[in-house]
Amino acid sequence: MPWDKAYYSEKLKQKKLDLDEEKLKPYFPLEKVVDGLFKTVHKLYGLQFVRTDNIDVYHPDVQVYEVRDEDGSFLALLYMDFFPREGKRQGAWMTSFKTQYKKDGKDHRPHISLVMNFTKPTDNTPSLLSFYEVTTLFHEFGHALHGMLSDVTYPSLAGTNVYWDFVELPSQIMENWVYEKEVLDMFAQHYETGEKLPVEYLEKIKQTKQFLEGMATLRQLGFGYLDMAWHYTYPGKINDAEAYEVQAMKKTRLLPHVPNTMMSPGFGHLFAGGYAAGYYSYKWAELLDAHAFSIFRKNGIFDKETARKFRHLLEQGGTRHPMELYKEFAGTEPDIKPLLRRAGFIQ
Ligand SMILES: [Zn+2]
Repeated sequence: MPWDKAYYSEKLKQKKLDLDEEKLKPYFPLEKVVDGLFKTVHKLYGLQFVRTDNIDVYHPDVQVYEVRDEDGSFLALLYMDFFPREGKRQGAWMTSFKTQYKKDGKDHRPHISLVMNFTKPTDNTPSLLSFYEVTTLFHEFGHALHGMLSDVTYPSLAGTNVYWDFVELPSQIMENWVYEKEVLDMFAQHYETGEKLPVEYLEKIKQTKQFLEGMATLRQLGFGYLDMAWHYTYPGKINDAEAYEVQAMKKTRLLPHVPNTMMSPGFGHLFAGGYAAGYYSYKWAELLDAHAFSIFRKNGIFDKETARKFRHLLEQGGTRHPMELYKEFAGTEPDIKPLLRRAGFIQ
């Protein structure tokens, strides 16, 4: 039954993977991870990050970097606010204090901020990240790149101001680099011994990513179908909401429906939070990022020409249709196979 899922999933995970995520943390001290992230971005786009104390900040924890392009020209200011404190919102996000725009022949460069809630360092232990937090940092940094590299005229179309189902491509694609040995070798080192992340841990991390991926995929698709169903049918025609929900999710249901229960009333994304008929965008963005990264993998994960094309896509913000931009980068429309392969569904 649906309520047994979490319990048996955990048992199966312990039996099959036996990965203690706490054991990974000493390999991910925050400073090293940030350094590795900067190196990754430098190898891809030539960007340089210079710490500066000349900019006012709203809290002493906040660090500011001047971001410079390959030729040394000023590109953006990057604020990073990593630690929790009283009154600070939970979670992780990118935001823009000043959006890029051009006026009277002048290019006004953006001020971008990354906000996280990592464990604060103590006197004898640095801030240590979980693997999930490392991927979160790379993810949010992808949004930040979208903002920092922007090269458009109107601020309303700059950076992340794109169609809803396109905004997670720049962020999700960044997560792919975290699973690459070449990238992890740049920063995943035990903070006490200096030992590199053992290869068997990396293998387990990769297996964990595919663990129960079939169920997870069905779940995401089911939510997408349900969301679309509510927005595609005139509500006046629906006499039995529960039956309507059951029908909408029929194709993806794995576990029995429990009569007199519904998920729609508690599913906040159906009508609020900007989703409303946009929930599918999670899966769609995964399809895009898997295909886009497969092109990097084919040409080399740091291939200059591929990175140049992807940067061009990032620079355009919402000034052009996403599919047009994507085809310019990939040479084709996105293909579903890399997503299925990454999920472990096909070879
Ligand atoms: Zn995101």
